Amino acid sequence: MKPIPLLTILLAVFYIIGCDKQEEATPNKVVPHQIETLNLNPLKNTYEYLVNVLASDSLNGRWTHETGIDRTEKFVIKQISEIGLQELPRYKSFKDGFKVVSTDFETLTINLNNQPASPERIIITPQSPQAQISLNQINRVVYFSPTTTLKEQVTSLHNTSVAGQNYLVLVPLALQESFQEFKSYFPALGAFVPNTIRYAAGYPIRYGYNNIIYVLSDTKMVETFTGSFKLKEEALNNVVAVIPGKSKPNEYVIFSAHMDHLGMARSGTDRIYNGANDNASGTAAVITLAKYFKEQNLNERTLLFVLFNAEEKGLLGSKSFVNAFPDKSAIKAVFNIDMIGNISPYGAGKAFLSGHSRSTLQSIMNKNLQPINTLINNEPAGYDLFARSDNYPFAQAQIPAHTITTFNSADRLYHTVADEISTLDLHSAFTVVKTIAQSSYSIIKGTDEPKMTN
Ligand SMILES: [Zn+2]
Repeated sequence: MKPIPLLTILLAVFYIIGCDKQEEATPNKVVPHQIETLNLNPLKNTYEYLVNVLASDSLNGRWTHETGIDRTEKFVIKQISEIGLQELPRYKSFKDGFKVVSTDFETLTINLNNQPASPERIIITPQSPQAQISLNQINRVVYFSPTTTLKEQVTSLHNTSVAGQNYLVLVPLALQESFQEFKSYFPALGAFVPNTIRYAAGYPIRYGYNNIIYVLSDTKMVETFTGSFKLKEEALNNVVAVIPGKSKPNEYVIFSAHMDHLGMARSGTDRIYNGANDNASGTAAVITLAKYFKEQNLNERTLLFVLFNAEEKGLLGSKSFVNAFPDKSAIKAVFNIDMIGNISPYGAGKAFLSGHSRSTLQSIMNKNLQPINTLINNEPAGYDLFARSDNYPFAQAQIPAHTITTFNSADRLYHTVADEISTLDLHSAFTVVKTIAQSSYSIIKGTDEPKMTN
């Protein structure tokens, strides 16, 4: 896709290889640290088995708020315990628990003109997870027109409403059908994430900005009003396992991927978002790498294998993990893996690094890749993936953290129910798994330490 940057790297690497040869020919020069060639080929079947299970219909699209994610979590924990990985004391039973605020209400009471409104007739886009609002705190009462579409009126209010204000919107019964349609999108949002705007079939939904309370009612005059609500809290887990480092046990290298996906569509013949590429392919990679490194006993630094939850909800699992991690400066590098099952713009088996110029990780990876004559490529211009996966909360904490991916902007299956195992190129994906292992060599050995560059 972007031949010029690729050519630039190739030329750079040929130049480096050329220099190495000159150095070898010169006596009295220090021999560079030997980079061993790692052989993961015996684990190809393991990788393919894992992707198949993780992408199967039985996990119901691995939706964070339903049973599919619980089954996924159990499967992942079973795999890593069978491999013989250890748990860290603060992640009991391999679980890193955290809480998210759901978009479901734990309590919801609206009284309009001394009549309680039934929950089916109420929609709220809240500013905070709970509030009590009386009529004198309502900044504006809005009466929607029965002759303009609900979508137009919601959009116009969304575009003009002010942060921090409270709006009470009376939606006439003539718009009941659209009202129910609008309301049906809320459970799918899953979690209350402040300052996010989502568009559900064209309806703008903004959380953490102001309180907009829609009530389905033909009332033409609001005389009394009280409203109170509280959103539910939900307990979720990331999965974390460890291989202690031999000589640098207090320095960490993380291999991570998100295990959650989008769950089930509301209708259609195929309703399951299998997320084979996004991100069964990466989750399976992390477990495969764990198995390989456990067997090889190579690592001088401690390796953490982390499977994040609620990535699709706004990187919630990784944000929580980073916030709670006691010694962030002890994390030396994060290899996050997201979507490696399709063919990247660089071709089969060729991955790239999101935000490659943000740290020195790419150059260390490419040095380690010399023995197998491959490269981790630049992120194609305009992709802007650095902030879109679980590496980002680490990078915000000044930890060199990137995502390795084969994402392709021409991929029409992304976030559709058609992201199925049959569409993946597992040979290419496994080539990327091997590339990741090899690229991490000097980092897990403790001889290189990437630094942030900006
Ligand atoms: Zn995704």
